This record gives sequence, C-alpha cells and structure tokens, in this order.
Amino acid sequence: MTDAVFYCYEQAERYFKRTFERPTITFRRSGKNAGTAFLQQNRVNFHPILFKDNIDAFLSNVVPHEVSHLLVWTLFGRVQPHGKEWQSIMHHVFHCTPNTTHHFDVKKVARTFNYVCDCDTYALTTRRHNNILKGAQYKCRKCRTLLRASDVSCLKAQ
Ligand SMILES: [Zn+2]
Ligand SMILES: [Zn+2]
Repeated sequence: MTDAVFYCYEQAERYFKRTFERPTITFRRSGKNAGTAFLQQNRVNFHPILFKDNIDAFLSNVVPHEVSHLLVWTLFGRVQPHGKEWQSIMHHVFHCTPNTTHHFDVKKVARTFNYVCDCDTYALTTRRHNNILKGAQYKCRKCRTLLRASDVSCLKAQ
C-alpha cells in the first residue's frame, strides 16, 4: 500500500515537475468510507477490511482518489473536494475515472459513526453514538476536547 501511494506521488511529481511531501498512511475503520484524506494532517486513511477484500480496486482507484485530494490541497488550497481540479488530476495524472462512490460489499463492515476532536478522527460504535445522543460526552485523551459528529465522507458506499 505504501508503495502504491508513493508511486502516485512519483507520477504527480513527474507531471507537475515539483516535489510533494509524502503523507502519513493509516488503516483505521471509517464507517463505510473506503478512503479518507485529511488535508491539514497530510494523511490518508484506508479502511482495512474493505482494502483486504478489494485490493485491486484500492490500488487502481481508491489510492489515486485520496492522493489527488492531498495534491489539490497543496496546489489549490480550499476548493470543492471533488471539483474540477480534483477531476483533472484523476484524469490527467492518474488516468482514472473520477468516481465519488464505491460499490464494495459493506456487509462485513460494522456500522460506525464518524466523530472528530481537535487532533484526530474516530469511528464510534452504535452503542457509543447512542450514548452521545442521550447526553454522554467523550473526550479525546490527547487534546482533551470533546468528540463531535463529523461529516467527513469521501468515497462512501453508494
Ligand atoms: Zn484530540
Ligand atoms: Zn474524495
């Protein structure tokens, strides 16, 4: 996986004739999202279960999809997440179809809810999510801020 991400960066560097800082790569469960790009953290996350079940599709499409988000952020700053800049990089740098949804089988993927603090993201179980709806509060151990619902969703299930 690291190789696939770094290979995308090599392609991008040849295309744009400049260097890009390599991102951190994580494998955390992320609801039904196949991948997520964290722009400020320069991090890409891939769903470990969906990855294991769909390795080819991840390498050929999910990896370039998320890398393109980080490239757009570096090159253009805050623009539409799946806008023309992103589509253009998917087409011209990676020769990929710019899909924004996936068709992976998500039956094995437990339902989780995306939450954020000031420093990280969390996939909470239904039980914890329901506790929060009933008034419970969870704090991040690192930054001590309360977890709040997040609508980060990229390459989600259709
Ligand atoms: Zn935190
Ligand atoms: Zn996306």
